Amino acid sequence: MIDTLIIGGGAAGLYLASFHPEATILEQRGECGQKLILTGGGRCNYTNAAGPEEMSELFHGNKAFIKRVLYAHTSMDIIEHFKTLGIQPSEEEMGKIFPLRGDAASVRSALLKRVHRIIKGKAVSIEKNDDAFIVHMENGTLEARRVVIATGGESFPHTGSDGSGYAILKALGHTIVPTAPALAPIALSSNLAKAEGISLKARLGVGKRAEYGDIIITRRGISGPAALNISRELADSNEIEITFSEASIKELRESMGARTVKNALAIPPRLTEALIGSLADRKCGNLSRKEEEEIQGRLSHFRSRAKAIREGAMNTRGGVSASEINPKTMESKIVPGLYISGDVIDVDGPTGGYSLSFAFATAFIISRALAVPDV
Ligand SMILES: Cc1cc2nc3c(=O)[nH]c(=O)nc-3n(C[C@H](O)[C@H](O)[C@H](O)COP(=O)(O)OP(=O)(O)OC[C@H]3O[C@@H](n4cnc5c(N)ncnc54)[C@H](O)[C@@H]3O)c2cc1C
Repeated sequence: MIDTLIIGGGAAGLYLASFHPEATILEQRGECGQKLILTGGGRCNYTNAAGPEEMSELFHGNKAFIKRVLYAHTSMDIIEHFKTLGIQPSEEEMGKIFPLRGDAASVRSALLKRVHRIIKGKAVSIEKNDDAFIVHMENGTLEARRVVIATGGESFPHTGSDGSGYAILKALGHTIVPTAPALAPIALSSNLAKAEGISLKARLGVGKRAEYGDIIITRRGISGPAALNISRELADSNEIEITFSEASIKELRESMGARTVKNALAIPPRLTEALIGSLADRKCGNLSRKEEEEIQGRLSHFRSRAKAIREGAMNTRGGVSASEINPKTMESKIVPGLYISGDVIDVDGPTGGYSLSFAFATAFIISRALAVPDV
């Protein structure tokens, strides 16, 4: 019988194995860490310099649970652990931590060095009898004393995180909070394609939530950190309000009457054209009050129907309810001996190294729990 079986050799599963090499990993893709090598644009933004208090404020989900997890293994602990694996940190803007040398593949290799045993296979269900878990795979069964679910969420399913962990946990009696894309680019019903490629700072509002920060106009809508961070809210609403510029009327009135609107505004002319069409080429001095108001409305309260683009999502909102997991050990409160880590949990954070930090912290907590001998 296997002592500890980790289902899923992604970020959380590999990080756990780097503390607990005697564990066996069951990985459906055979090759571990397929998502990990894509992270941070291939450079792996593996944590953030923010402390646990600041970090936990930024996550969505059960705050008390998130705090317990992030205090148990902080970003400093993650950085130190990676140093022991030969990965030195380099801090970039917004506290993002990347490897000083190397890339995401070198982070994966560093973690893999500690892994002793990987079995290729897909878990489809788990049964528990008195002494052991029976893990049913597509082609066979495994028996294990303890099982860790590290199957990830449902973003980038071609990397292996296809959401199958939810069904396994649900069948064992866990509550699955409905899932939706998070950290996703946004498709808009309004066509801004004329302004494709323009980057700027904007305020984005969805329902009661707002984000201010960098966005980039894409062929289908918007992307960039502020768009990714607000995308999760589109599970509750299908409308977004974008403030591209606050001061359009003032700018227009103060500008030379002979200048065209697109040359008088502080935002790029190509974006002004995309937003207000032919009004962009009018002289500022010739605008009626109604036209000025129309321009300000489009620039400050641009409303469009919007949808998170599932295929581009980097994270998942929802998942297994955190209230059913003991944050001290990450052991299920419903099935003793079953541990749960990473994206599969109903917790999601912003861009900037937060998602991996959470996955790593949950994995560390499990490694600590597994190290305590049974009495
Ligand atoms: C393009 C992209 C870029 C990202 N960049 C960053 C970044 O720079 N910084 C950051 O903090 N976060 C980033 N993230 C998010 C981060 O990758 C995830 O938060 C992290 O990988 C979650 O780790 P995990 O172990 O929970 O899941 P995953 O890493 O998704 O691993 C889950 C593993 O489980 C396996 N599996 C699933 N179901 C089964 C099953 N039934 N049986 C057997 N195996 C199974 C999968 O094949 C997979 O290998 C990015 C995500 C994407 C998609």
